[in-house]
Amino acid sequence: MKIVDLKIHTLKSPLAEPFAFSQGWVRQRSATLVEVITDEGLSGWGEAFAQGLEPPEIAAVVIDKALRPLVVGADPLDIEVLWHRMYQMTRDYGRKGSILAAISAIDIALWDIAGKFHGQPVYKLLGGAFRTRVQPYATGFYRLQGQGEADRLADEALRHLNSGFSLMKVKLGFGVDDDIAVMQRIGQALQGKAVSLMIDTNHAYGRAEALRLGRALDGFGLRWYEEPVVPEDVDGYVEMRAKLTMPIAGGENEHSLFGFRHLLAAGALDIAQPDLGSCGGISAGRHIVALAHAHGVQVNPHVWGSAVAQAASLQLIAAIPTTHHSLFAQQPVLEYDQSAHPFRRQLVAQPIEMIDGWVQIPDRPGLGIEINRELLQAYAA
Ligand code: CA
Repeated sequence: MKIVDLKIHTLKSPLAEPFAFSQGWVRQRSATLVEVITDEGLSGWGEAFAQGLEPPEIAAVVIDKALRPLVVGADPLDIEVLWHRMYQMTRDYGRKGSILAAISAIDIALWDIAGKFHGQPVYKLLGGAFRTRVQPYATGFYRLQGQGEADRLADEALRHLNSGFSLMKVKLGFGVDDDIAVMQRIGQALQGKAVSLMIDTNHAYGRAEALRLGRALDGFGLRWYEEPVVPEDVDGYVEMRAKLTMPIAGGENEHSLFGFRHLLAAGALDIAQPDLGSCGGISAGRHIVALAHAHGVQVNPHVWGSAVAQAASLQLIAAIPTTHHSLFAQQPVLEYDQSAHPFRRQLVAQPIEMIDGWVQIPDRPGLGIEINRELLQAYAA
């Protein structure tokens, strides 16, 4: 079997109602999807993660100009070999960011092909399923104004609760005082309910403010505090872990096992959050899981992409070993963003379904998705 072509699908859709996270306003949804086509009629799907402010065309150009010549003609089942070929041949201008996102897209598609070729879900090829279902957490609480939205956000918490979520991640980073007011209101709204909260500031603060926020929320029993400081400030992460009581999470803006090595060796994380659409795909996710495991660190993949990224995330989650084994060990959870996104439910024939607070991990071959090609055309950039 040989790879004969790559088709790149760049999708965009303006949002009816723009929303903010701490780094800026998200005005459109976008996605960079790749379809890797073989000479045996099998094709696979992958996605380069385009974060809220990132133009999806960057990864598309990298796939087209830099990676296409490296993989066309190769055996798609040589996944590890091709990962290293793509990484090594882009090393001098890559290693991070959109270059790694482009590599991720092709790598995910190769795993999809391998699964279809063997008639097995990707998690089987990764060594089997440690779990067949995963608890999703609601990512949300974006801002429509910026500050002063505590009441509306408390209503949103109740909405997620009524939808069946018992885990929720609150977007903070809009000023420490505003953040604290938001959390107090949400805490009041959820009083007596069996809900665990996480917070995510998207590295909005320096160390002093990040610590002030963490200390103010000490009584919330947070499951984790995500991206408290900028990803470059590894020492800052170490300081957060030393001075705060809640687990510290991060890594969505780090790439490959080489990038995670620094975070893990420094003791910067309790929870590593590689995004499969930007860390280097399922192969890099697997490298990072092994590295994190050796450091006693949990992996909870970050996922904010389309249905393709969600499907890839589910497959890896199935295959992540329980980090700290016990009868009631904490298991990885699925990031389930609740903001508007046309490339999720409508993009695939089998969108994620949450039933009784759980998501079943698909056991269909490959990523277990069929792409709705009409939607690709409707949102083509
Ligand atoms: Ca995040």
